[in-house]
Amino acid sequence: MKAPCLCYNGRKSYREVILVKVKCVLCDIIENIDSNCLQAKRLRNRRIHMYICKTCYARVEKNTNERHASGNFKLYREKKKKNHLI
Ligand SMILES: [Zn+2]
Repeated sequence: MKAPCLCYNGRKSYREVILVKVKCVLCDIIENIDSNCLQAKRLRNRRIHMYICKTCYARVEKNTNERHASGNFKLYREKKKKNHLI
């Protein structure tokens, strides 16, 4: 089965792929992703328990960036890192 890989790295590789069906937790859309892509591997290993489709991912990313721009959003992870260096 030849199909483009739909994972987040943005590469479109037309090769033999095994597609796995995943359901987006935000909009319930069913997508096929390449079973060899990092995302599918993570899902299989249960390192991530949910899948977010590209559309939702872009939306969440945009909102996060907007919060960053407004300055109302504090990135706690970065703060921790700084403290660690002191
Ligand atoms: Zn979605």
